[in-house]
Amino acid sequence: MAKRSIQKCSFCGRPSDMSEVMIPSATETNTYICAECADQIHELLRNYRHETSAGIGRKQERDKSTDLNSIPTPREIKEFLDRYVIGQDSAKRYLSVAVYNHYKRLGQPVDDDVDIEKSNIIMVGPTGTGKTLLAKTIARLLDVPFTIVDATVLTQAGYVGEDIESLLTRLLQVADYDVKRAERGIVFIDEIDKIARKGDNPSITRDVSGEGVQQGLLKLLEGSIVNVPPQGGRKHPEQHMIPVDTKNILFICGGAFDGIEKKIAHRMNTHTVGYSTDKKTKRINRENFLEYVAPQDLKSFGLIPEIIGRLPIITHLDPLDRDALRRVLTEPKNAITRQYEKLFRMDGVKLTFDPEALDRIVDTAIEYKLGARGLRGIVEEIMMDPMFEIPKSKTKKFNVSADYVTEKLSNIRVDTINE
Ligand code: ADP
Repeated sequence: MAKRSIQKCSFCGRPSDMSEVMIPSATETNTYICAECADQIHELLRNYRHETSAGIGRKQERDKSTDLNSIPTPREIKEFLDRYVIGQDSAKRYLSVAVYNHYKRLGQPVDDDVDIEKSNIIMVGPTGTGKTLLAKTIARLLDVPFTIVDATVLTQAGYVGEDIESLLTRLLQVADYDVKRAERGIVFIDEIDKIARKGDNPSITRDVSGEGVQQGLLKLLEGSIVNVPPQGGRKHPEQHMIPVDTKNILFICGGAFDGIEKKIAHRMNTHTVGYSTDKKTKRINRENFLEYVAPQDLKSFGLIPEIIGRLPIITHLDPLDRDALRRVLTEPKNAITRQYEKLFRMDGVKLTFDPEALDRIVDTAIEYKLGARGLRGIVEEIMMDPMFEIPKSKTKKFNVSADYVTEKLSNIRVDTINE
């Protein structure tokens, strides 16, 4: 072992007795750095970081998310979504392109006059069709901070509920309070339809819960410096606000917009009766008016035009039909049946489902209008007894047949299953 007296700094040669402390290499023997060299390096780095983050020499600090070669293409993003989400092709394509462009915008060169602006997205689709799932799946793929917030908890400043700025608190938290990283993040705002203005006429009494929140949200969507309470809420009045620039934060909004189909149908009807004589006009799919959702429908629903203007990409989700529900049960990487198979496997039991049993589960979900969300509740009910009995028993295999499903469901009130 090296004696303390002959330790020398491997950078400047300073002997250990002339240095405050010698820091040994983690991997090499007899290799040290003295405190004085470490201080100098620290100072150099600090200056370097300061200069580069101010854009000097265009060496702007970029995380790997802005390196075009390392980011997935829209096609790759969609393929990834396909593994977890059934159907919803249109929404997947729009999301894939939007996320890809988000990365491109973050990495755009600042040496010309063209500034790629962000295109926030709004997804319109019935509840339980995969809006949140799409958002969560995107989050799995990304290396930018991502958070999901619920618009229903937001209220105008001064009212009971969360301030709009607190929406960015979550983003700051997932970015470990690294403001620069948070400023490149993605926020999914769920249930945006719940802050719609009640009634189409803007001149009737202003309603604080809806329009006020929309006005507040507008500031965030447009891109401005917002003072964010680091711990959220109003419980910590003494907390120092953190300024966050929302210019580059991508907002994805989702909502069921119950009843919007009527507004779409009404608009299209008026249009075809009033103006369109074009025989070649594509046949309208009357099964799913959401396909034709347009900005004016969101306005009739109660979103203010300024908000709609800040959500230039509108896409829809289809209702899940029988076939889609059946696929939801087994196909996604994280499918419900796969989850139960895994649970049982961990107890050394091979779990199988007869195809007819799956059909019966789907039929039940349709009959009671439980949708995709209800599928889990139904399976949970069916599996409750075996999950209770099987661990540490002698059973090594368990098959779920259609009759077993019927028997289990006959013992409960299916209409009380949580959606
Ligand atoms: P919402 O559209 O209301 O946000 P969610 O995404 O929360 O609906 O869907 C609820 C659950 O239903 C999901 O967690 C998932 O298990 C299932 N689900 C809904 N839609 C799909 C889909 N298109 N593909 C796969 N699973 C789905």
